[in-house]
Amino acid sequence: MNYLSTRGATPPLSFRETVLTGLARDGGLFMPETFPCATASLEAWSKLSYPDLAFEIMRLYADDIPADDLRLMIRKSYNTFRSPEVTPSVQLGDLQILELWHGPTLAFKDVALQFLGNLFEYLLAQNKSRLAIVAATSGDTGSAAIDGVRGREGIDIFVMHPKGRVSPMQELQMTTVPDANVHNFAVEGSFDDCQNMVKALFNDHPFRDAHHLGAVNSINWARILAQIVYYFYAAFRAREATGKNRFAFAVPTGNFGDVFAGYAAWRMGLPVERLIIATNENDILTRFFATGVYAPGAAAPTTSPSMDIQVASNFERYLYCRAENNGKTVAAWMKTFATEGRLVPDVPEGKPVEDPVLTAIRVDSQTVAETIRRFACDHCYTLDPHTAIGVRAAQTLYPQPDDRTAVICLATAHPAKFPQTVADATGGAAPTHPILEALRNLPPRVATLPADAEALKAAVGAALAAKDAP
Ligand SMILES: *Cc1c(COP(=O)(O)O)cnc(C)c1O
Repeated sequence: MNYLSTRGATPPLSFRETVLTGLARDGGLFMPETFPCATASLEAWSKLSYPDLAFEIMRLYADDIPADDLRLMIRKSYNTFRSPEVTPSVQLGDLQILELWHGPTLAFKDVALQFLGNLFEYLLAQNKSRLAIVAATSGDTGSAAIDGVRGREGIDIFVMHPKGRVSPMQELQMTTVPDANVHNFAVEGSFDDCQNMVKALFNDHPFRDAHHLGAVNSINWARILAQIVYYFYAAFRAREATGKNRFAFAVPTGNFGDVFAGYAAWRMGLPVERLIIATNENDILTRFFATGVYAPGAAAPTTSPSMDIQVASNFERYLYCRAENNGKTVAAWMKTFATEGRLVPDVPEGKPVEDPVLTAIRVDSQTVAETIRRFACDHCYTLDPHTAIGVRAAQTLYPQPDDRTAVICLATAHPAKFPQTVADATGGAAPTHPILEALRNLPPRVATLPADAEALKAAVGAALAAKDAP
């Protein structure tokens, strides 16, 4: 499989090269040349365990990794999960709740980042090279990425979070990790500032080459790939539970990575009826699908901080699909976006955007609290605020059970990651989890940085130089 940049100005790369390169040199994101068709495999795949299914799907895209090596990496990655099913589903009322939080840091990002940590270590050992990972986090990516690579040979990781804008628990999960290859920065700015700083480092090619920069944000194709797996797995389980053979997925969305994995599953032939892009008040995607105009507003803090994102990096992958893989068209759109702060792709401005599977729905913080409370009453089940956004969006689009479509809500975090919001909503005790309780008395390690790419370059350079010093 070859990978091409969404902006069309770089030569095709292999899977291995794509994983280590992260962001394409023309500023675009990597896309597989085609989506392999899985229609004929669905029956056989529906009988596989999670790791075996992951192997069958990933080998279609990672065809330059020997099968035995890939199988072993997948086994190692999902042995760290606390459920033998890796991503189990539970049926509550008419909804299937797909629990994606059974990994080490209690958020769905572990599904991709446990795998990416193993993949990086494998590729670096073979190339005899090293990697400095630079990542921006709105909360959950940071801890999941850190857990994926902590203590690994040949890798340093630098994680920026917007100072004071991630939950106290999320902050502890990042800053209490003792391994020397983990470096945390609290940035005086928003998540979008952090993400722009990462992009600035990648676009400084001499700096990027000198320090072997690598990406773990969902711009890295390997993350999307790992997430495609649970759309298939959950659909098979939902079919067993309901007998229904078409599927709608409600996806709490920030950077558009998770929902793009669902889009890829649809393109591969999974019978997806709807992919619901569920957003909070930071609703650039909802506004785009309502008006055809993609234009960021100011980032507003909400009770679902992992979705407090205005510019959704992976949206460019969707634009590339809309442009029928024409990189020149996407490059022109993105240029307009950079210069004018808005873009209108191939759609009439002011009209809802037509899409065969995507629908966007916005859910505000008050409705989130209401949904958490109602779900706790009706089902004795605690939703985290992000998951609640998806659940509410699903209930909005499917107010009545649908005869042929199973509705699957992606549960993206364990509620104990957001104890205050949940307790405020239910009026009950704050949810806890032993993994999180164990962090409370550990010493944090974090430095403060201004929202300035030059300051980040200096800090990364200094930390790596200190390691190289004898
Ligand atoms: C990251 C995250 C999201 C958003 O996922 P994207 O792939 O960025 O759209 C939703 N919920 C939780 C809990 C997250 O950590």
